[in-house]
Amino acid sequence: MGLRFFNTLHRAKEPFEPLEPGRVRMYTCGPTVYNFAHIGNFRAYIFEDLLRRYLKFRGYDVFHIMNLTDVEDKLIRAHRETGEPLKSIAARYIKAFFEDIDTLGLERAEAYPAATDHIPEMVAMIKTLRDKGHTYEDSDGSIYFRLSSFPGYGRLSQMDLSRLQHGASGRVKTDEYDLEDARDFALWKAWDETDGEVFWETELGKGRPGWHIECSAMSMKYLGERFDIHCGGVDNIFPHHENEIAQSECATGKPFVKYWLHCAHLVVEGRKMSKSLGNFFTLRDLLEKGLNPLAIRWTLIATHYRQQSNFSFEAVDAAEQALRRVGDFRIRLGEVNGPGADLADRCAACEQAFAEALDDDLNISGGLGAVFDFIRDVNKMIDAGEVGEDGARNALALLDRLNAVTGVFAPPTEDAVPKHVMDRVLARQQARRNRDFAQADALRDALLAEGWVIEDTPDGPRVKRA
Ligand code: AMP
Ligand code: ZN
Repeated sequence: MGLRFFNTLHRAKEPFEPLEPGRVRMYTCGPTVYNFAHIGNFRAYIFEDLLRRYLKFRGYDVFHIMNLTDVEDKLIRAHRETGEPLKSIAARYIKAFFEDIDTLGLERAEAYPAATDHIPEMVAMIKTLRDKGHTYEDSDGSIYFRLSSFPGYGRLSQMDLSRLQHGASGRVKTDEYDLEDARDFALWKAWDETDGEVFWETELGKGRPGWHIECSAMSMKYLGERFDIHCGGVDNIFPHHENEIAQSECATGKPFVKYWLHCAHLVVEGRKMSKSLGNFFTLRDLLEKGLNPLAIRWTLIATHYRQQSNFSFEAVDAAEQALRRVGDFRIRLGEVNGPGADLADRCAACEQAFAEALDDDLNISGGLGAVFDFIRDVNKMIDAGEVGEDGARNALALLDRLNAVTGVFAPPTEDAVPKHVMDRVLARQQARRNRDFAQADALRDALLAEGWVIEDTPDGPRVKRA
């Protein structure tokens, strides 16, 4: 049936046909760098990573832009409360963001433009909108987008326009607001004292851009006036993406984005993540608890992106077990020798089932299911002594190809040693330092019983699967 995605714009699955054959231009809304990203944000970024990797697997040349929002209401509040310069707050969290995406194995986008490096592009776009009659100015010099000047407003979020026409008097200067509250929104915010040192002197006066114009101006700069895919979490649909469409289409007179893809939210233990419930986690919080980043990646990727995903510690344990099955399977394949089945048909069937599932709007559960069926079947064949060296090589190459899409079928590394195992290794070293050899041997035997061997090397002990 070919590759198809659920397009929020039409609330339907549609065949994917990029504007330019063979090439995909995509934009994903990135972090507001006023704090560490939380695992809900990473659910969105991992869904986008899967999308990008799968498009590449399907042979597309992908050009992907993710913005960094380094001027925005929440950042300015942090600046006001601490007195720390905006740039320095942003630099700290941008650094943390890149560390976190590396920890979770996200591929890098082609570029990460920062909003404050693109003020001239935003000013130019606001001037175009002004020249075309889509804006008006407040008495304080702020510039607003006039919703009533764009008949297409509300298409993405399926908003009731009659309500908008009657109830939408007034305007809103904050960047985030509710569906109940569709109003003319700020493109340019005139400086006031709460902004402190945050302002730019431009042809539009002294002030700063609104959040929405940032993504319109930067996406068009890097991807052109029209491009293929725009992503974010469902909370971005309104007002952010609705406003992006209004600004962009009014500025260019052309349809803006062909496919809009949005992921549902991550909840924690069945509840919305919030600081007051004590279930609000950054990636760093989870690493401190000793969780394996790969198991976190698995947990965040394994639910279909349009379904709400429930993060729980049991789910991470289950992911850890799934990773162990993959790791054990790779080890067994590495031990196969001699002649036997080459598994060519079995590998092709698995790859096809995986691709058919992911073609269907990134059905990851179907894709992972196909891989586990394969592992189960091939394990049985290994038990029966039927698999040959060629077969093992083909199976490992298949896992590598599927790992390029998912990032969860990699060969086990020392990092993947579970924390409780590492704890025992460290306890054994301590016992040896204390010359308590009985205790050290007991720990070594306990590890062996669990399938881990310790090798003492000149660089210290190394732990491997038995
Ligand atoms: P923000 O920094 O708030 O603009 O969010 C960055 C990205 O994370 C956006 O695409 C949001 O839609 C997404 N996001 C925020 N919270 C969650 C959540 N709980 N689950 C999934 N995605 C989220
Ligand atoms: Zn955006």
